[in-house]
Amino acid sequence: MSNASLLILPGDGIGPEVMTEVRKVIDWYGARRGLTFDVSEDLVGGAAYDAHGTPLTDATMAKAQEVDAVLLGAVGGPKYDVLDFSVKPERGLLRLRKEMDLYANLRPAQCFDALADFSSLKADVVGGLDIMIIRELTSGVYFGEPRGIHTEGNERVGINTQRYTESEIARVARSAFELARKRGNKVCSMEKANVMESGVLWREVVTEVHAAEYPDVELSHMYADAGAMQLTRWPKQFDVIVTDNLFGDLLSDLAAMLTGSLGMLPSASLGAPMANGRPKALYEPVHGSAPDIAGTGKANPIACILSFAMALRYSFDQGDEATRLEEAVNSVLADGLRTADLLGQEGVAPVSTAEMGDAIVAKLDASL
Ligand code: NAD
Repeated sequence: MSNASLLILPGDGIGPEVMTEVRKVIDWYGARRGLTFDVSEDLVGGAAYDAHGTPLTDATMAKAQEVDAVLLGAVGGPKYDVLDFSVKPERGLLRLRKEMDLYANLRPAQCFDALADFSSLKADVVGGLDIMIIRELTSGVYFGEPRGIHTEGNERVGINTQRYTESEIARVARSAFELARKRGNKVCSMEKANVMESGVLWREVVTEVHAAEYPDVELSHMYADAGAMQLTRWPKQFDVIVTDNLFGDLLSDLAAMLTGSLGMLPSASLGAPMANGRPKALYEPVHGSAPDIAGTGKANPIACILSFAMALRYSFDQGDEATRLEEAVNSVLADGLRTADLLGQEGVAPVSTAEMGDAIVAKLDASL
């Protein structure tokens, strides 16, 4: 692997704690698999505000633009709630996403067998589930103009605009088709073409991109409301789902919860390919900084470790090694190891953040 550079931004709360465990995994790949990363570490969020008065310095932003992948822990905490909106910890994360133009948000919903009983759905509905939701992240109704609240006659009107250009739809559709080729080769595109013009255009453009560039991938279309029903009825019918920013926001959270705890959920946000062919990329767990358990050793490091597995697969083309890491996680869970957030059964003592990280590394060792 040539010149694989990684910027680590642990952030706040449990971010640094879970990232310590990811560092063990990264070190293992260097020592045992010859996958060496040029790793640098910097501040983001409240930690950056404390040191520099801003949640992301220009220097850190510039570094993020140069590296192959950014791995982020979490940002935020009650200490920073009083800050002005412009310097809140979350602004650091938003700036990264915006300036790196990360338009494809990958949210896997994967159910590890050992946790099938943890879901609110029946074990046979979620057991072995492995789907990927791609949410368009930089356009749509959260960004469209006009927007705002104004007065018309004697009442106020709230306005947001759903707006998508053909190129915005085409690029995220390509992300979905490319990804499907590395997985089950199926894409389901979701919109509301029955009631929204932006949905009609979405469906047309996805169909065009498919016909011109990806005819080998199986494509289907579904209205997003029907998609929500199908996700809870029989989620295993899907492989890759591609959808807009608003529907993706809802559907990815719905799909994620099929599989249990926040402490298990990784994500990736990808942008356009750089000169070396690798996409701009930010990997982060879905969870926040969990101030309620920060510093107690209770945090589950698996979401962050699985985010690194996504980096192996999508930034560094190391799909087999990503699978090795996911299998190590599965194996640790199958042995019954649980951090506190995964406890359901009486009489099982939880392991700490560090113990979970060490156990995963031991499974990696055992995989050789
Ligand atoms: P949260 O995700 O931090 O926590 C929600 C609940 O889940 C808490 O009870 C927490 O203890 C638990 N939890 C989360 N991750 C866990 C893990 N890895 N292991 C075990 N338990 C875990 O969400 P919140 O409490 O709404 O927000 C806390 C702070 O995090 C806020 O400042 C918020 O703005 C910020 N936040 C940041 C991000 C991010 O960095 N991407 C995302 C969401 C929230």
